[in-house]
Amino acid sequence: MAVIQPRGPETADAVIVGGGVIGCSIAYHLARAGLRVTLCERGELGAQSTGRCAGGVRQQFSSETNVRIGQLSVGMLQRFEEEVGTPAGFRQIGYLLLLSTEEQVASFRRQLAMWHRLGLAEARWVTPAEAQALSPAISTAGLLGGTFCPTDGIASPSDVTAGYAAAARRLGATVRTGVAAHSITVRGGRVTGVETAAGPIAAPLVFNCAGAWSAAIAATAGFALPVAPYPRHIFVGDGCRQVSRETPMTIDLATSFYFHPEGDGVLFGMGERDEQSTFATEVDWSLLERIQPVAARRAPPLVEVGIRTAWAGLYEVTPDHQPFVGPAAEPAGLWCASGFSGHGFQQAPAVGALVAQLLATGRSEIDLSAFDPQRRLTGGGEPETTFI
Ligand SMILES: Cc1cc2nc3c(=O)[nH]c(=O)nc-3n(C[C@H](O)[C@H](O)[C@H](O)COP(=O)(O)OP(=O)(O)OC[C@H]3O[C@@H](n4cnc5c(N)ncnc54)[C@H](O)[C@@H]3O)c2cc1C
Repeated sequence: MAVIQPRGPETADAVIVGGGVIGCSIAYHLARAGLRVTLCERGELGAQSTGRCAGGVRQQFSSETNVRIGQLSVGMLQRFEEEVGTPAGFRQIGYLLLLSTEEQVASFRRQLAMWHRLGLAEARWVTPAEAQALSPAISTAGLLGGTFCPTDGIASPSDVTAGYAAAARRLGATVRTGVAAHSITVRGGRVTGVETAAGPIAAPLVFNCAGAWSAAIAATAGFALPVAPYPRHIFVGDGCRQVSRETPMTIDLATSFYFHPEGDGVLFGMGERDEQSTFATEVDWSLLERIQPVAARRAPPLVEVGIRTAWAGLYEVTPDHQPFVGPAAEPAGLWCASGFSGHGFQQAPAVGALVAQLLATGRSEIDLSAFDPQRRLTGGGEPETTFI
């Protein structure tokens, strides 16, 4: 007679909490490195911040770490299909940053020199007239100049996330959806696994990729992670003659109003100065009324477009607008990868690769000390000021 053995608890080398683009990229890169990975996503893969993002991929940042990460991600997105097996929808239409104060001009002149030093040779200064030739919808009124990087662009968040998840599964990772992680278990200062809605998973490594919700899951392991949710809106309008498929992502840095082509239409949005931290993501249609006068000044044709749809998602914001990536000092075995402050989609390819390197060798090809999860205690850091 066959004896039914009770099954022991599920085990893994690493549990990843959160199946947005960051969790899926890390799952893929760890599985590729030979680890037995289990990813737990409480909803659907990529349905939160990742699925609501604008898909922008830029290398024009104020912090050197972010420029280098942007360069690495751009190369990885160019080779994505070859490596991961499915397309990333990456279209290098460029990013055009519009400047209208002397302070911005001075700052971006300095940044341009830094970008060139780091090998981003194709980034260049543009006059207001050159900016308008690149992005014909804009008005040059009040513009002092801008920067343009033709290798920046937009990619598909859903394709990148699904591509990494499928490739991780092919490499043996277990990717579970509809499974919430309730807490990280710790014994003797070390992570021992995760309690989930589907039972415990024992593992010596836990990666917190829970995006805007990462502070809550970190707190269950006694680790304070200052990541706060801020809702951001996107509006998609009908196309207009002045925004073609090749028009670059265009950002008015004085107001953070931005737009880029989206299919045969145009996608636009804007941050606001007095934003309040909340998890609420109902669409606030009154924002459209506040965007319209800004659009009327900076991109007048956009005021006329009919609105097709709108949605809101969460930015996962840290005090210095830099993410927390790497191991927590305590408990041992807890790794952070969250708080990307509105640029996590574009950083996901590079971050997955760098985390796998850091775990394997204690070093990564790009120095991640600016992202040290302990920096609020040590006083270190390198704030990102081009926060859109
Ligand atoms: C409107 C908007 C526009 C944006 N535009 C851009 C852009 O142009 N370029 C760019 O690079 N970035 C952009 N971003 C930011 C980008 O979307 C995020 O930085 C990125 O998606 C973060 O990915 P993530 O995987 O960390 O988070 P998420 O995609 O939010 O994934 C976290 C996941 O964790 C899950 N989770 C949370 N708690 C638990 C738990 N306890 N158990 C199990 N699962 C859990 C959630 O369900 C979620 O799916 C934008 C964001 C918004 C809102």
